[in-house]
Amino acid sequence: MAVVDFGTQVQFLKSVGPARARALARLGIHTVGDLLAHYPRRYFDRSSCTPMRALAGGCEATVQGEVLTCGQRRTRRGGSVQTVTMGDDTGVVFCIWFNQPHILKQFRTGLKVMASGRPQRHQGHWQLVHPDYEIMAPAADREDEGGHLHTGRMVPVYGLTAGIGQHWLRALIDQALTRVGDQAPETLPEDVLRRRGLMPRRRALRQIHFPAADADRQEARRRLVYEELFLVQVLMGLRKLVRQQEVGITLEKPGTLTRDLVRSLPFALTGAQRRVLAEILVDMRSGHAMHRLLQGDVGSGKTLVAFIAALFVIEQGYQGLLLAPTEVLARQHGHTLAALAAPLRVTVETLTGSTPAARRRAVLRGAAAGEIDLLVGTHAVIQEDVHLPRLGLSVVDEQHRFGVRQRGRTSSAGGGPLPHVLVMSATPIPRSLALTLYGDLDLSVIDELPSGRRPITTKLVDAKGEQAMWEACRAEVAAGRQVYVIYPVIEETEGSDLKAATAECERLRAEVFPGLEVGLLHGRMKASDKDAAMGAFREGRTQILVATTVIEVGVDVPNATAMVIHHPERFGLAQLHQLRGRIGRGSAASTCWLMCDRFVGQESYDRIRFFAAHTDGFALAEQDLRLRGPGDAWGVRQHGAPGFRLANPLRDRDLVQACREDARALLENDPDLSGADAAVVRRALEEGYARLAPFQAG
Ligand code: ADP
Ligand code: MG
Repeated sequence: MAVVDFGTQVQFLKSVGPARARALARLGIHTVGDLLAHYPRRYFDRSSCTPMRALAGGCEATVQGEVLTCGQRRTRRGGSVQTVTMGDDTGVVFCIWFNQPHILKQFRTGLKVMASGRPQRHQGHWQLVHPDYEIMAPAADREDEGGHLHTGRMVPVYGLTAGIGQHWLRALIDQALTRVGDQAPETLPEDVLRRRGLMPRRRALRQIHFPAADADRQEARRRLVYEELFLVQVLMGLRKLVRQQEVGITLEKPGTLTRDLVRSLPFALTGAQRRVLAEILVDMRSGHAMHRLLQGDVGSGKTLVAFIAALFVIEQGYQGLLLAPTEVLARQHGHTLAALAAPLRVTVETLTGSTPAARRRAVLRGAAAGEIDLLVGTHAVIQEDVHLPRLGLSVVDEQHRFGVRQRGRTSSAGGGPLPHVLVMSATPIPRSLALTLYGDLDLSVIDELPSGRRPITTKLVDAKGEQAMWEACRAEVAAGRQVYVIYPVIEETEGSDLKAATAECERLRAEVFPGLEVGLLHGRMKASDKDAAMGAFREGRTQILVATTVIEVGVDVPNATAMVIHHPERFGLAQLHQLRGRIGRGSAASTCWLMCDRFVGQESYDRIRFFAAHTDGFALAEQDLRLRGPGDAWGVRQHGAPGFRLANPLRDRDLVQACREDARALLENDPDLSGADAAVVRRALEEGYARLAPFQAG
């Protein structure tokens, strides 16, 4: 047999031909190492099957038996119910599915099946509703064909793709473990393993796939999670070390711009805003470039803090740069900041994809000549040929698109002191996650909302309540206020969704708000049309704005006091929070209506009710993470940052802390990882084991 190691292509394993290799590639599995890192999504505990006669209500059970009958019937409300009965030597169990006719294609009388679920008593028999099930291949009973992998133990359940079956993949992973598992390279220093009581990598790999018992699975998971978190912390620590060697722009004497601005504001800065500004000033005077994450809930006043930070450098003759994630937001920031800057005689210019060419050239010239103090733009546009010879601060507004952090140092004067970088995030991230995603940055949190904010009332509305809701919206408009109507077009490429949003806009114009001005804003509009729609709403020329999620990011119209959200079940909690944060920005009371009924399904309904009952962004973010994990909750994966395979920085927050300490200790002793202890870590990093390396900060 050919020699196989972690780097070997999977085709060289037994039973993998070209077709299967292509299917595995769709799962991101190219090498044997990838295969072993394809961890189970969950497990069936088949170490003990319950005889059907001995079933009891309340707790999860696994039964094994033969299919006796399968069939389906229609329900009165037009749905269908699929029933598969199975029996063993002791009794019978009914497996039930609702509206899943395709399920029946898989069952046939006489097949051996294993099913897990919570038994319920129904009309004198036990039933399992939507059980986890697995049809046992005939060979699975035979020990020599891998039958021991599928029964009588904790059985791994893998994510699959077309052409890859559960049994086959299990056997393949077992084969790989047997052939190379013992050579699994270690990634953690000996001393960390010992102190933290972690098992060696080779043992962890076997136990995560085929645990001897649940306790072993937990220990294996803890070890592999530790690895993921630790390597990321080392990487972040290394980046920090590099920065500490660099010379940053240092601020000398304070100027007068900041004082003038603060005096001119109609309100006082909050305590949190002042504390954060003090932290920024300390950085700016330290001699090194600042790399700081500014976190704060929606409406906590981050933009103002960023502007004052820019004034710190502008008043000493430097330039500032603000990068926004979207065009709408860039224009919004440009607008707000220009208004604040005008009385101070500070020049603010905005540059986006739709800036006319002549204007663009003029702005670029002004920037290069040092005549523009603060340049605002979208990431995409500014990346290119902008030259700011006196750049002192880059503010990178990430909103909640984690993992897209951009270079914040566009064209610093080559070789000179480096400009400061401030990253703003609008989603309150729990600390353990912030330390993971942004572990190389220092953290500032605005944990206080400006006073005088009236709370937002959030209401669930079903079809019956709809008329009353629109009536309330008309009353808001009659009182001089404005209304957002949000329609979920999550991917702006989804044509049918967009049609629905546009049709809804027409209907609102014709039937619900006749005589009022209703604007429309969605991501597929031309930039100039978007700008016009936003401008009309900001200036009160439209009273109602029908918008898709483009509105979510940072739009600030304090006169808007009402929001209707259609299909809230299609948004995550963090996203709903961003949306709702568009209202409640002025001194008038605001209302948010969520149009949904119970038919969205229990899970969604519970999520929406949780949202309606909570306004604190941190509570919502934590719940979102708990429910969906960081990847899905905030699109970390969608936006190109490879997420963790096992770690969930929220659930594993204790480990985040421990890993941080260990990484720091390692780097203190051995900052370039050249010692013997650190050799395994260096190799792991070189081979790309640190799966979360999304940023090109600096
Ligand atoms: P964020 O960017 O954190 O969501 P913004 O900076 O957009 O919040 O601020 C929201 C609104 O609150 C803006 O209209 C801003 O002018 C106002 N604001 C900022 N700081 C204060 C403060 N200290 N007191 C009252 N209003 C404030
Ligand atoms: Mg803002």
